[in-house]
Amino acid sequence: MSDKIMTEVPQTHLPEIKAELKYEQFRNVILRLKPLEHLDIYQEVQSEENLDKHKICESFRNVLKSDLSLEEITSLYTVSLLMLLLSESQDDCQCHRSLEFLNECFNYTDTLKPTMIHYATESMLESCKTVSGDEEQYFVNILEVIPHAMVSSETGKMISLGLLRAFIADLTNTKIILHIYRNIPEVWQMVKSITVDSILEVWSLRRSYILIKSFALLITAATFNPNNLSLRQAGYRGFEKPLNITEMTDWFKNLKDKLDEKHKITKSKVGQTLVRYIDSNILSLLSKNGTNEVTSNGGTETAA
Ligand SMILES: [Zn+2]
Repeated sequence: MSDKIMTEVPQTHLPEIKAELKYEQFRNVILRLKPLEHLDIYQEVQSEENLDKHKICESFRNVLKSDLSLEEITSLYTVSLLMLLLSESQDDCQCHRSLEFLNECFNYTDTLKPTMIHYATESMLESCKTVSGDEEQYFVNILEVIPHAMVSSETGKMISLGLLRAFIADLTNTKIILHIYRNIPEVWQMVKSITVDSILEVWSLRRSYILIKSFALLITAATFNPNNLSLRQAGYRGFEKPLNITEMTDWFKNLKDKLDEKHKITKSKVGQTLVRYIDSNILSLLSKNGTNEVTSNGGTETAA
C-alpha cells in the first residue's frame, strides 16, 4: 500500500518547471566528491569529457561490492540521485540501471543512527548545491528523484525526509542545525512564517512549486503512510497525523484560491497546474480521516 501511495505522488505534472541535469554539471559534482577520488571511475570521469552513462553506472555499481566508508557511501548517494537525472545516450533506452544503482546504494548499509543520517543529509545538500549557481533548479532536480530514494530503504527515506525539510527551511529562511526530520508541526511552523500574500506577490511559480511539492511529499511519506514502523522502532518520531490540520488546510486552501484567482487572469498554465497540485496532493490528503490507524498507534514500539 505504501509503495502505491508513493508512486501516486506527482498526480499532476508541471511541464514548464523541469528537472534537468547536463552531463557537464553531473561531472562537476562528481569531481568535487573528494572521498571518491581514489576510484578508477573518478579518474576516468576526470580525464574524459563525455563518458557513457551506462559505463559510469556499471563502474559505480562495482564500487558497491567493496568496503566503503561513510564518506564514500554518502558520496555515492549523491551520485545515484543525479544519475537518474542524466539523460540516456539513446532516448529510447528502457534499462533500469540507474534505478538499480540507487536502490543498491541506499541498501548498502541499514544505518539509521541520527548522527549518520545528519551527516549524509548535510553532505548531500552541500555536494548537490554545487551543481549550478541556480539553487532552485537544484531543488527541482532533487524533488524529481527523491520519491525513488524514499522507497529504496529506511535509510533512504530518513535522508529524503531530511532533505525535504531542508528545502523548506531554505525557502523560509529557517536555520537548521541538525538535519533530521522531526515532525510535521515543526515544518508547518516554517511554512506559515511566510504569508500567502508574499508568496503571491514576490515568489516565482518555481519557488512556490518547490515549497508545495516538498510539503506534499513530506506529509505523504511521513504521516499519511502506515509503513514507518522501522523508523519508529529506531527511535524517530513525527509519523502520526498532526493535530492542527485545520490551520494547515485553511492556509493551503487560501493559497490555492489566490493562486487560482491570479492565474486565471494571467492565463498561466503552470499556475493552474499548481492549483490542481495543491488540491490533489495536499488538500485531499489533509481531508482524509481515519485511514491511518497504524501510524497513530503510539504505544507499540515502547514494548520492544
Ligand atoms: Zn539505459
